[in-house]
Amino acid sequence: MPRPIRAIIHQNALAHNLQIARKSAPQHAVFAVVKANAYGHGIERVYSALKSADGFALLDIEEAKRLRALGWTGPILLLEGIFSAQDLFDCTQYQLSFTVHSARQLQWVRQYPESAQFDIFLKMNSGMNRLGFQPQHYREVWQSLHECSAVNSLTHMMHFSDADGERLGQSGIEAQLKTFENTIQDLPGERSMCNSAAILRHGSQLSSKTVRAGILLYGSSPDFPQHSIQDWNLQPSMSLRSEIIAIQDLQPKQTVGYGSTFQVEQAMKIGIVACGYADGYQRISATGTPVLVNGIRTGTVGRVSMDMLAVDVTEIENVEIGSEVVLWGKSRFGSILPIDDVAQASGTVGYELMCGVTARVPFFIETQG
Ligand SMILES: *Cc1c(COP(=O)(O)O)cnc(C)c1O
Repeated sequence: MPRPIRAIIHQNALAHNLQIARKSAPQHAVFAVVKANAYGHGIERVYSALKSADGFALLDIEEAKRLRALGWTGPILLLEGIFSAQDLFDCTQYQLSFTVHSARQLQWVRQYPESAQFDIFLKMNSGMNRLGFQPQHYREVWQSLHECSAVNSLTHMMHFSDADGERLGQSGIEAQLKTFENTIQDLPGERSMCNSAAILRHGSQLSSKTVRAGILLYGSSPDFPQHSIQDWNLQPSMSLRSEIIAIQDLQPKQTVGYGSTFQVEQAMKIGIVACGYADGYQRISATGTPVLVNGIRTGTVGRVSMDMLAVDVTEIENVEIGSEVVLWGKSRFGSILPIDDVAQASGTVGYELMCGVTARVPFFIETQG
């Protein structure tokens, strides 16, 4: 028997969440963001559930090739663009669209020696200050790409820094939108602005051609804790499950785990779970981080170690060796532990947990339920 830890990918949930993106941004083409190996899920595991998307967006040409190998013939967008002039040959061969965000990338495109039909997303830095051309240089860059024979189409692109928050005014999404609109004004071409938070919160007001849906597809709320996945009607697409492998009955003053950081106050029963930080569970998680045992919500106890963690099962009936433990996601018994609740107790976000499941954890696909 293998160690009982496993990650389960729920394909129905992915398909459901994609429909939520469609409903929230009607009249938009929805690109499914599958960077970081589909947010840790595995591109091959999510593909059939997401292939009704209008396009895919990711970072690595190697990941783009995997999508082509799966049979995807539609648009693929490289979100950070190309990393060398050489990459343009792959863009031609595999028909990849890409962002242009820097003067270097612009140079590479202008110097491309062969005839090509590049679909380019020209990125404006509207206030995030990571990638993109400053608004005052944007039109000039647009013009030079517009005149470049290798270019087939130009989409105006921006990325909000605060779509999940309350910063609407001066530096928030209104200001960034205004900068974007004012700069592109009368220039022809489609637009692409929204990530998950902008789709869910502002999707019906913001008009553009393509939206880029990432985290919402995977059943994590982009603006948690203000809204939970239940509020947005999203379903978890990944469950990290394991089992109880030992049970300890403890008396007051006894302690649990390395460093004896947890001391028992009243007699309690704990279950030892085959899951630790070497599986991708955050070591920093505080005592009380939520977990489901037999589908019932309880909390962790003491420090997370490399291969194990402890949970309080005092109040849970019928706990035995082999009882199901859900670290995040869905229980076989139907209950749900949103990844956002676990992330909050570990001082992080759902994104990081789902990307962080380690190579020793086997993955399984569930097509129903
Ligand atoms: C990652 C990414 C997205 C998706 O963001 P989510 O918050 O996961 O929806 C959209 N656009 C760009 C440019 C990105 O890098």
